[in-house]
Amino acid sequence: MQNRAIPTLIAIRMLSSTTTTMIDIPTLIGYSATLFAVIGGIFLFFWFKESGSVRYLWFGLPFLLGFLGAVFLINPSIFPGLWDLRLGSWLILLAYGFAWQAVRAFYRRPILVLACVLPTLLWMALSILVFGPWNWPAASAGMRALIVALFNGLAAYELRRSDSDDLPSRPILLWIFAAYALFALIRAPFTAILPAPLGAGATEAWAVVVYNLSVVTQALLVGAFIISMTRERLAMEHYRMTLLDPLTGAYNRRAFDRQTSEWARSSFPARTQVAALLFDIDHFKQINDRFGHAVGDQIIVLAALTARDVVRDSDMVFRMGGEEFVCLLPNTTREEAVQVAERLRSSFQTAAKSIGDKPVNATLSVGISISSFSTVLPDGLLRRADEALYQAKNNGRNRIVLAEA
Ligand code: GH3
Ligand code: MG
Ligand code: MG
Repeated sequence: MQNRAIPTLIAIRMLSSTTTTMIDIPTLIGYSATLFAVIGGIFLFFWFKESGSVRYLWFGLPFLLGFLGAVFLINPSIFPGLWDLRLGSWLILLAYGFAWQAVRAFYRRPILVLACVLPTLLWMALSILVFGPWNWPAASAGMRALIVALFNGLAAYELRRSDSDDLPSRPILLWIFAAYALFALIRAPFTAILPAPLGAGATEAWAVVVYNLSVVTQALLVGAFIISMTRERLAMEHYRMTLLDPLTGAYNRRAFDRQTSEWARSSFPARTQVAALLFDIDHFKQINDRFGHAVGDQIIVLAALTARDVVRDSDMVFRMGGEEFVCLLPNTTREEAVQVAERLRSSFQTAAKSIGDKPVNATLSVGISISSFSTVLPDGLLRRADEALYQAKNNGRNRIVLAEA
């Protein structure tokens, strides 16, 4: 009776000890175990190397659990009775749960240890108390397949809801988890007729090969793609940094060129317009001379913050160099652009009255131009805004000028 508690594994062990097939199953599982240990070890190495990057520990954990599980399955004599088999199966189930947690760790979401442990413990309890005594090996195998499907499905879901990042490997890893979830889900209702280890029937070599291949390929694919996603995210973060101005946190000239050429390349309805507010701090050289470079820097930061404050979230602020900025306001009418420019001018005048106890009284001048997206390239948009700014400076500064249409 007891011996039927985990018939799949018993069958594997019987097969391996009583037949002389070409496939030596403990060796096969041994190879898989070694692979898990190597991949898990690589992540542990990263964890030690990049100290503080606890994420790598979470990446490595499913592989190490899979390794431990396989060790228990290969060695029947670590614990008495069926406990090594139970523990082996339980650890392998847990490995799938922690693969889901590895994806959560990648997205810096809290680790849900209980959500991994509880379903697997439920399987353990049921197989000891119900499936074993009632001789339901197919139910035990079916429940294991369902838990694997659940954890793989949840991992796919974590990737699905993370579509705000555009990492090239994300959809690939999503489909890997989804495919393996589907594979486990499809096999769950058929565990009564499928040979072990796919189901609870008598072990057959092809089933051993298919099962082992599926486990090993999933481990390899998940390991490879979680590493590439880590690298891709790092590259993406570095790339984003190349588009930002370090002093103000506004976009820089490179980002401006990129954005405008992107607009020029894409096709927008002819009526959609973008407004450019080109602004420059007045008599900035004198501010630097009178109050020092540090105060000058503070005024530049203040100008960027004020601009960010008066525009919409969808608008962009660029520091083009020195104390000169551009705001790009997509889908904005002339009237709206003038309003925003005026708010920018007056807000800055108020905010820049004094820095600490220094009466800086800084002001800025704005040149405004409007164009359609297709003629947005610096020649069209910026040249006319620049002419308007020049007029604003000539007319006495601390004012806004709208370029001719
Ligand atoms: P105008 O009203 O005509 O704009 O006069 P202006 O003095 O502002 O003219 P200009 O654009 O020639 O002066 C810009 C000055 O800004 C020159 C440069 O020393 C200073 N500057 C450029 N970048 C920085 C910076 O990052 N920090 C500080 N503090 N000063 C900068
Ligand atoms: Mg200036
Ligand atoms: Mg200037």
